[in-house]
Amino acid sequence: MSFFFKLGIEKNGITLLMIRDLDWCVIGAGPAGIAAVGKLIDLGVPPERIGWMDPHFAAGDFGRKWNRVPSNTKVDLFLRYLNAAASFEFKKRPHKFPLEEMNPAENCWLQDVVAPLEWVTQELRKKVQSFVGEAMALSLYQNRWEIKTKDVSVHSKNVILATGSETKGLAYPGVETIPLDTALHPEKLAHIVGQKDTVAVFGSSHSALLVLANLIDLPVKKVVNFYRSPHRYAVYMEDWILYDDIGLKGFTAHWAKKHLDGKLPEKLDRVLVSDPTFDESLALCNKAVYAIGFERRKLPVLEQYEKLHYDDRTGIIAPGLFGCGIAFPQARFNKIGHLEHRVGLWKFMDYLNSIIPIWIKYSN
Ligand SMILES: Cc1cc2nc3c(=O)[nH]c(=O)nc-3n(C[C@H](O)[C@H](O)[C@H](O)COP(=O)(O)OP(=O)(O)OC[C@H]3O[C@@H](n4cnc5c(N)ncnc54)[C@H](O)[C@@H]3O)c2cc1C
Repeated sequence: MSFFFKLGIEKNGITLLMIRDLDWCVIGAGPAGIAAVGKLIDLGVPPERIGWMDPHFAAGDFGRKWNRVPSNTKVDLFLRYLNAAASFEFKKRPHKFPLEEMNPAENCWLQDVVAPLEWVTQELRKKVQSFVGEAMALSLYQNRWEIKTKDVSVHSKNVILATGSETKGLAYPGVETIPLDTALHPEKLAHIVGQKDTVAVFGSSHSALLVLANLIDLPVKKVVNFYRSPHRYAVYMEDWILYDDIGLKGFTAHWAKKHLDGKLPEKLDRVLVSDPTFDESLALCNKAVYAIGFERRKLPVLEQYEKLHYDDRTGIIAPGLFGCGIAFPQARFNKIGHLEHRVGLWKFMDYLNSIIPIWIKYSN
């Protein structure tokens, strides 16, 4: 193992730059980054040759933004994830987590999964070299990637991007935007909407329906749901799920069947975005939530590549550069030939199980 420490001169004075010579650096400590670190160790990469970088180390957006959301996957899949990497040492946890006492066939709250994820994170951080900070720039130089944060420069032969996604947005003038993470947090939402508000909700996916359910329970004047396509339900077949990644499941499926397919709640209007009354209906709204999907979070600077493309069957981006998680999901055909982009904790783990051995060979 080789470490280099060097004194660098930065614009604002003298800064100590530590340059560490690593084999692998995982950027992002959400569920995908946690799984990637765990699987590298399981596959024999010495933990001290692995770097791990995140500004928070708090289970990613999953832990910080979506924790007040009901899950769309069952408890069983979260438990399978937690037990799928030997290096997580989940069996050594000091006590059982409430998640483990729940019915494996039921859904839960995402916050129930956050505590075990945080515990695993802390265990893994004891093994690898972790850097608290945000990767600001990434470049390939003499067969090694250089990752710069505000105060550290890390050199690594391979880099795994597990950097997550941002919500897509629209911006209609005169309509105040409510960020999706606020709209998905009932208590925070209750603080910023009131009786005078008519709130537009764009979308018809899992997130959009959760926002509708949150808003209907609050004392707002009206909620208008603008949507482009009908909602779809996931169908549990014997050994696969139809519309696994786009269909409504759990709480939102129940809610949609009761309220959208049945009698609309009094406060709720639904308007197709192509409907001639769209402009008129939007003019009634003073606030809006855009639940229209997610896009890959951009690294502030990824030198050398104008655009970041990845192979969605292997996660390979460039020599020694790989991606996983919601930002770089695996594409796979389901039983009836639909191409699905697989998102969710168990799917990240399942994908990494098959793909990390390829990444290790690719990098040799
Ligand atoms: C509303 C909602 C509900 C969901 N429900 C479920 C569910 O029930 N079951 C399920 O399995 N999945 C669910 N998911 C899907 C998915 O599991 C989550 O989106 C999950 O958070 C994705 O994990 P990730 O690790 O790819 O990204 P994230 O959780 O977003 O983590 C990315 C991490 O990378 C870090 N990062 C980003 N940029 C940098 C940088 N430049 N330098 C250093 N660090 C960086 C961030 O700080 C963050 O910690 C849900 C998603 C949403 C949005």
